[in-house]
Amino acid sequence: MNRHSLKYVLATTLLALSGIASAADAAKTPFTLPALPYATNALEPAIDAQTMEIHHGRHHKAYVDNLNAKVKEFPALASTSLEDIQRSISRYDTAVRNNAGGHYNHSLFWTLMAPVGQRDMPSPALRSRLVETFGSEEAFRTKFSEAATKLFGSGWAWLIVKDDGSLAITTTANQDNPLMDVVAERGTPVLALDVWEHAYYLHYQNKRADYIKAWWPLVNWQQVNARYDAAAIKR
Ligand code: MN
Repeated sequence: MNRHSLKYVLATTLLALSGIASAADAAKTPFTLPALPYATNALEPAIDAQTMEIHHGRHHKAYVDNLNAKVKEFPALASTSLEDIQRSISRYDTAVRNNAGGHYNHSLFWTLMAPVGQRDMPSPALRSRLVETFGSEEAFRTKFSEAATKLFGSGWAWLIVKDDGSLAITTTANQDNPLMDVVAERGTPVLALDVWEHAYYLHYQNKRADYIKAWWPLVNWQQVNARYDAAAIKR
């Protein structure tokens, strides 16, 4: 073997080894923490930077890490989309339910808020459905806020498009969500609000209602409208 072909063999062997290593890594950690779509202080003063840093960098990251830790036990997780995992969550254990739910819910939640200038308002199509369903846009906001405020313990409030195309406000406990095949009222999430204490306690302490009131102006209606359109077309 001359010097050139030895180099070639070494290079191709290294390439093959690195391919195996990265494939193994991918199988071990198929879930990744998405970057926030804005700076951690972009939602101030309603949501302070420290709350965002801890909520995203520690709480959400923990759901991702804990979910990756379950892949060895449930290999199907690595080849199933995050949404389809929710839809078939009854096949998994409680730890997968909590952490896959936490990863999906938070990944969605970040996109449903936006800095000033990107927030917009409900589209004519969504607005007319809100009026038809709840009486007025204001009545929808009041009912959603009430559901979020009254939810006992930790969980989420949702606006969903149900399979029959109707809109509904629902709540789920812990990290459950309306996609899961174990919750009472299922549908496609259009709007989501995290009312776990970790979402607001640093700034609002026990005053959840104040956090909810401050959250409304942050809603990224561009994103909500797009989700509504996609869900309404799909049915
Ligand atoms: Mn949270």
